[in-house]
Amino acid sequence: MADIQLLVLGGGPGGYAAAFRAADLGLEVLIVESRKTLGGVCLNEGCIPSKALLHVAKIIREAKHAENYGVVFQAPEIDIKKLIKSKDQIVGNLTGGLGGLASRRKVKVVHENGVFIGPNKLQAGDDVYTFDHAIIAVGSRTVQLANWPVHNRIWDSTRALEMSEIPKKLAIVGAGIIGLEMATIYSALGSQVTLIELGKDLLPMVDKDAVNILKKQLSSFGCEFLLGTSVEQVMPSDLSVSLIFSAGDVKEYDVVISSVGRRSNADKIDCHAAGISKNKHDIIDVDEQCRTSVPTIFAVGDVTGMPMLAHRATHQGKVAAEVVCGYKVQMNTSLIPSVAYTDPELAWVGLSLQEAKEQGYKAKTTTFPWLASGRNLASGGNDGLTKLVYCTESNRILGGTIVGVNAGELLAELTLAIEMCATLEDIALVVHAHPTLSETVAFAAERALGTLTDL
Ligand code: FAD
Repeated sequence: MADIQLLVLGGGPGGYAAAFRAADLGLEVLIVESRKTLGGVCLNEGCIPSKALLHVAKIIREAKHAENYGVVFQAPEIDIKKLIKSKDQIVGNLTGGLGGLASRRKVKVVHENGVFIGPNKLQAGDDVYTFDHAIIAVGSRTVQLANWPVHNRIWDSTRALEMSEIPKKLAIVGAGIIGLEMATIYSALGSQVTLIELGKDLLPMVDKDAVNILKKQLSSFGCEFLLGTSVEQVMPSDLSVSLIFSAGDVKEYDVVISSVGRRSNADKIDCHAAGISKNKHDIIDVDEQCRTSVPTIFAVGDVTGMPMLAHRATHQGKVAAEVVCGYKVQMNTSLIPSVAYTDPELAWVGLSLQEAKEQGYKAKTTTFPWLASGRNLASGGNDGLTKLVYCTESNRILGGTIVGVNAGELLAELTLAIEMCATLEDIALVVHAHPTLSETVAFAAERALGTLTDL
């Protein structure tokens, strides 16, 4: 008989969600987690600490903006130690809370590094555990570029969130979601930020009109963009880091943040010993029930590939736990909302216009500009946009992008609409409270139907 019914390897959002759900369904569960706390990258060095710092950035910007209304605050004095302490307290509360939730469910947690030594056997520290089922949720880590030296002036996102200093001149290499959030934080704290991106534009998978609004706003904060630019060489010294670009020019920065993506941790757990197949990028192949090539072993979260987002990991974790417990459920991977918590926020879900057309839909977009939203203007909001992609034959909503204050919160209405196969009429005929930013979603739908009176 196995030592444990369900072993969960990794205690991030995928792992703890799987473990807690399985325990709630009556299984005896063990989490093997190499960190001292649960919560994974998300709580310890990702989603939560970055949002805590983004909140501070927002306060600084709003205080400055208040000048427009005749309310003048003094320039902020930033006590970095206190700032870090408050961020760490938030993280500590949440990770401590997870520890409590685990013990109340009688989920055992072992803080060791786990490695498979067979299809139903795992070594964790000096102990070996046998299991009936396992769920792999070991997540991802930052990509280290091969020719980049290790140096205390070259940071990854984890180091950037530790915030040991606020550099005067900061280069961020890689302008994906994480790079853009770092630019939002550090530019508010006073850094002169340069974003360097190999691609010709930011976030190529996102609606261009929306991306341009974000780009304009970040430029107004003093962020400089070097697009279509590759860094050929990195030369750190005690006081600065020189970047040599493909065109041959050299620029010097106080600190460089490398934000060029994340890679799966599946290379560290000896998948081969368990017979689990993975691709050349160490992404574990799973079916829609999150089952790997070994029928009793499941995998969830970043280790299963893109999009590497916490809510996808959590959702997969619950699906895997329920499948282990005999439920007939599966993961609908096509509808994972994405949010960049920048200023303004940029959020998108479902199909882009191009994807919709490629999938055979007769598709169109409809928009509502936020400069016509009373709530946006009354709250000091700037440019913003709500754009829906819909099928012209059925009026069904297929996708959407929102850029503006709290776009991430507003996206939930579109996500639900797409999931429920809602049409433009379903949205337009629901009474939206006035004045709210959510009206922009209804107004975009009304605009397509020809019933809009607010533009
Ligand atoms: P992880 O959270 O990576 O957890 C894996 C856990 O497994 C870790 O705790 C690790 O210590 C442990 N582990 C690894 N190997 C072993 C082993 N061999 N033995 C034992 N334990 C092991 N996503 C969002 O949705 N929204 C955001 O706003 C957001 N912001 C982010 C900001 C930053 C700066 C970063 C870096 C990421 C952000 N993400 C965000 C991504 C999000 O953090 C990840 O998608 C999410 O944490 C993935 O969850 P996971 O459970 O797959 O893995």
